Amino acid sequence: MEPSMTVRTRFAPSPTGLLHIGNARAALFNFLYARHCGGQFVLRIEDTDKERSTQKAVDVIFDGLKWMGLTWDGEPVFQSAREERHREVALQLLAEGKAYKCFCTPEELKEMREAAQAEGRPPRYNGMWRDRDPSEAPAGAPYAIRIKAPREGEAVIEDLVQGEVRVANAELDDMIILRSDGTPTYQHAVVVDDHDMEITHVIRGDDHLTNTFRQLMIYRAMGWEAPRFAHLPLIHGPDGAKLSKRHGAQSVVEFREMGYLPEALCNYLLRLGWGHGDAEILSRDEQIRLFDLSGVGRSASRMDYTKLEHVNAVYLREADDDRLTNDVMERLSGREGVDTGEITRARVRALMPGLKERARTLVELADNAAFLGRQVPLSFDAKAEKQLTPENRVMLGELARDLAVVDPFDAEHVDAALRVFAEKHELKLGKVAQPLRAVLCGTTTSPGIDATVAALGRDEVLARIGAVQNG
Ligand code: GLU
Repeated sequence: MEPSMTVRTRFAPSPTGLLHIGNARAALFNFLYARHCGGQFVLRIEDTDKERSTQKAVDVIFDGLKWMGLTWDGEPVFQSAREERHREVALQLLAEGKAYKCFCTPEELKEMREAAQAEGRPPRYNGMWRDRDPSEAPAGAPYAIRIKAPREGEAVIEDLVQGEVRVANAELDDMIILRSDGTPTYQHAVVVDDHDMEITHVIRGDDHLTNTFRQLMIYRAMGWEAPRFAHLPLIHGPDGAKLSKRHGAQSVVEFREMGYLPEALCNYLLRLGWGHGDAEILSRDEQIRLFDLSGVGRSASRMDYTKLEHVNAVYLREADDDRLTNDVMERLSGREGVDTGEITRARVRALMPGLKERARTLVELADNAAFLGRQVPLSFDAKAEKQLTPENRVMLGELARDLAVVDPFDAEHVDAALRVFAEKHELKLGKVAQPLRAVLCGTTTSPGIDATVAALGRDEVLARIGAVQNG
C-alpha cells in the first residue's frame, strides 16, 4: 500500500431482517482497520432485493451498528439507487468489446446446464454468444450482457488473511453483468460500487472468496485497480459445524436481548480469530491501536458462549452504575409483582456496585435486582424458607428493634449494628445475615448484607421482617 493512500473500508450488508454475528464481526474488523489506519469506514446497503429490503430491515442494520459503537463515515450508500451507474459501466464494457450480448433463451440455458451435469462438469455457460454476431439473433429478442472471461491462465489474489489464492480462469465462465430486464447482477454492482466509493480494502467473510475471482474480471476489464482483499474465516458453532440456530444466539439483537453489553460482544468477536499476545480484554482505543489484518487467523473460529459470558462479566463490573440501572429498570418493567417506580430505581442504583459483581449478563443482573421492587408478602425459595425457622423469625423480630434505631441508615452503620447484635446473642455473623437475607430477598444470595439492608431502606426492611413475625 502506498503510504499516501487513505484507507477506506466498507461494510456492505444485505438487509435480510437481521444482523448476523458473522457480519457484525466483519463490520467490526472493517471499522477497526479503518480507524487503525486513520482512514474511513463507510456503509453500503446492498438493497437490490426489493422485497426483502424494507425500511425495517435496514433499520436493524443501523441500530445494530450503532449499538456496537461502529460509527460509519458519511451517509450510507444505497446500492439500489446506483442502478443507472451499474448499467452505464455494463454498456461501456459492451461498447469496448469486453462484454457481449447473450441472446440465450431460458430453455437453451437449461439444456446447457443439463448437458454439463450429464458429463459431470460444473454448470457453466458455454460461451454460445461470445463470438456470434448479434445480428444472428431474432429481431427484438431480449438479451443479457455477459463479460468475456479470460479463458487461459489463472487469477491470483494476495489475500491479506488467506495468503495467495489461485483459481484457473477456465473455472470461471462468462458471467452476466446486466440481466435482460436491464438490472445489474450482484457481482457487477459490488465492483462498480467498491470502485466508485474508492474502497481500498475489502474485508469480508471467506464465503465470498469465489465471488472475488468473478469480481476481479470486472476490475480487469475496466482497467480499474482492484482493492486489497481480506477474507475472514467464518464463525462456527462450538462443535465446529456451521453456526446455526441450534447452537444458540446468532443475531446481534439476540445477544442484546440475552443481556450482553455491546463492548463485551465486540471484544469477544475481535478475540475470536484475532490475537494480540495474551491480551483478552482490550478497550476500544487499544483495539484500534493494535488491530491489524496480519493478526487474523486462517482457520474457522468456534463460537464459545461460555467465554463470551466471562468477558461480559468482566465488562459488567467495569460498567457505569447509572447505565446499568437504566438497563435493569427497562428489563424489569412489565415483570409481574415488581414495582419499577422511582423508589425501586433508587434501591437498584444504590445496590448496583454489589449487584454487578455477581452477574454475568444483564438478564441475570435484572433477575438478581428484582427483589428490590417486590412487595410484602414476599415469596421465598426453598433455601430461604429453610432459613426462616420459628427461632430465626423471633431472632429477626429482635433484630428489627435494633435496626429501627440505626442512624444514619447506611451500610456502615447497619454493619456495625449487625455485629453488635450477633455478639450480644453469641451468634456468628452469618447466622444473623442468612436469615436476614432470606427474609429481605426471598433467596439466600445477594450482595453484602449491609449494602442490601441499606439499599432497601429502613421502612422496607422493617416491613419485610414484620411480615413474617406471626406467620
Ligand atoms: N452483501 C453481501 C453480504 O451481505 C456482502 C458483500 C461484500 O461484503 O462484498 O453478504
